[in-house]
Amino acid sequence: MSPHLLSVDTLSRDYIDHLLHVAKRMEPIAQRRKITRVLEGAVLGNLFFEASTRTRISFNAAFCRLGGTVCDTTGFTFSSMAKGESLYDTSRVIGGYVDAIVMRHPDQGSVAEFASATNVPVINGGDGPGEHPSQALLDFYTINKEFTRLGKPLAGAHILMTGDLKYGRTVHSLIKLLARYEPMHITLVAPPGLEMPVELIELVASHGHRIEQRDSLDESFEPIDVVYATRIQKERFTDEMLESVSGFTPTFNVGRHFLNSRCTPQTIVMHPLPRDSRPGANDLNVDLNGDPRLAIFRQTDNGIPVRMAIFATLLGVDHLIEKDMRDVGWKTPTRVGVDDADF
Ligand code: ASP
Repeated sequence: MSPHLLSVDTLSRDYIDHLLHVAKRMEPIAQRRKITRVLEGAVLGNLFFEASTRTRISFNAAFCRLGGTVCDTTGFTFSSMAKGESLYDTSRVIGGYVDAIVMRHPDQGSVAEFASATNVPVINGGDGPGEHPSQALLDFYTINKEFTRLGKPLAGAHILMTGDLKYGRTVHSLIKLLARYEPMHITLVAPPGLEMPVELIELVASHGHRIEQRDSLDESFEPIDVVYATRIQKERFTDEMLESVSGFTPTFNVGRHFLNSRCTPQTIVMHPLPRDSRPGANDLNVDLNGDPRLAIFRQTDNGIPVRMAIFATLLGVDHLIEKDMRDVGWKTPTRVGVDDADF
């Protein structure tokens, strides 16, 4: 197996299943009940050349919770790439300093190019509109965990993905990952011009999944198990596109009205975040805050055990976790968010 995590394409189903199992074992550490030092002495290079809050901080926190330390750089301005350094040179240099690298870059394929120059594990933290494999893994972990709580099987589930399905890399990685599993019903709802790339639809359909495509949420749907909303990726638009697609129309607003009229009490709502909460954005609505169906913060919380599992498996310490676990010595809140549901 490749030492890197670059795309869902290279992950076998056995690896995905093993990774989710390791992530489950990481939960006591992620929930700050236990500590481990299995990566004591190891150093992570966190290189982010595009905006990030969750991915950068959660990879950082995950590595630290395994006992490692992190060096990071953000943006091109303070990096030698601003002086014309190639991805090859940067990769070889950083590989000599650290034990694992997470990289986010605005160009599709750039993280793979960077990884081709080093044997130190490189994780794709998002390459332009390409992929975001760790997000797909944590999304899939979240779906499984929520379905277990609700007593639902994955096979035959109805997953509705909506928003910018053309440039949203999280849905590209997630749909490829879902394609590996038992047939589901996947409904894709996007404004004209922002539909899921045809090759991805064909790939998923070739695995026996039922695919439906719509251009509005203002319709009736078969009972939905998961609504996966996404933000419009304006930073990837040309000026011409900005004029033609200025935002989502109100029909793309995933909020209380949509949930109460089109979903069931057991539907869960996910989003890779950030959601655009500015007026007129018509992204995932804040009026769902406090609704237990809103799983977005359970989803972000799941980023820590899943990213810990990624490091532990890539660096070969996944078998050492339990041996090294100890109780934490400090006080932690029983509930992180004031609106968190009881489960
Ligand atoms: N945080 C996700 C990403 O980096 C989703 C987004 O930015 O809309 O792709």
